[in-house]
Parts: sequence; structure tokens; C-alpha cells
Amino acid sequence: MTVDIHQPYDDDNIFARILRGEIPCKKVYENDHVLAFHDINPQAPVHILVVPKGRYVSWDDFSIKASDQEMAAFVRAVGEISRDSSLNKGYRLIVNCGHDADQLVPHLHIHILGGKVLGAHLVQS
Ligand code: 5GP
Repeated sequence: MTVDIHQPYDDDNIFARILRGEIPCKKVYENDHVLAFHDINPQAPVHILVVPKGRYVSWDDFSIKASDQEMAAFVRAVGEISRDSSLNKGYRLIVNCGHDADQLVPHLHIHILGGKVLGAHLVQS
């Protein structure tokens, strides 16, 4: 089911459970505010998900409620992870936010995709 942009945070969502260590992940990076791990169903040779450790449903929720420190940590982590992941020829960042973007997991995550030429495709017609 897709995420309702205004839904309350669900502590049982899959990324909350990964953050609590209840479900394993292939960890790429961690600091006080951020965890990053490989997507279970990669859409490119490199497909990493970066999640804030705070309880944020979506980009919309994060942009309203996160502290400046959490936001800075998130943005800097994405850059650091990308540099450390041999993506020196480029990469794509995707954040699906809510129903129309087909967001499936109700905990903010940014997709880092790369490792091949991704093309210009952005949306399905
Ligand atoms: P969304 O459509 O919400 O932007 O993307 C959710 C992503 O989470 C998908 O790319 C999906 O493959 C990934 N995913 C879903 N469940 C798991 C899981 O248990 N572990 C990992 N590593 N990725 C997951």
C-alpha cells in the first residue's frame, strides 16, 4: 500500500525495524543521525537506501519537523556515501513522497542509484 503523506508514523514499518536491529540489512554507513544499507531489490548495480534515524514518514514530514542538525547530517551522509561507493561517474537520487510517487515504506528514505548509465527516464507515461 502506498503512503498517505499525512499518515502518522508507524513504529512497525520495515525501516524502523531495521533501525532497531530486528531485521538484518547490508549496512553501508552509519552515524548518530543516519543509517544506509543496500536495497533488497536493486534497480541498478549500486542501489543504496539512506534513512534518517528519526521518526519521519516522508520528505514532507522531515522538511517540517527535522532539526537543522538532522537535515545537515542527512544531506552530508548522502554525499559521503556516494563518494565512497565508486560513483565517481555520477548517480541519481530519488525520494518518493506519498501516494502519487508510489512511496511504499512509510519512513523517509533516499535512493542512491548508479554504477551504470541510467538514462533520462524519470516517469512512466
Ligand atoms: P519506495 O517505493 O518506498 O521509495 O521504496 C522502498 C524500497 O525499499 C524499495 O526499493 C524496496 O526494494 C526496499 N525495501 C523494502 N523492504 C526492504 C527490506 O526489508 N530491506 C531492504 N534492504 N530494502 C527493502
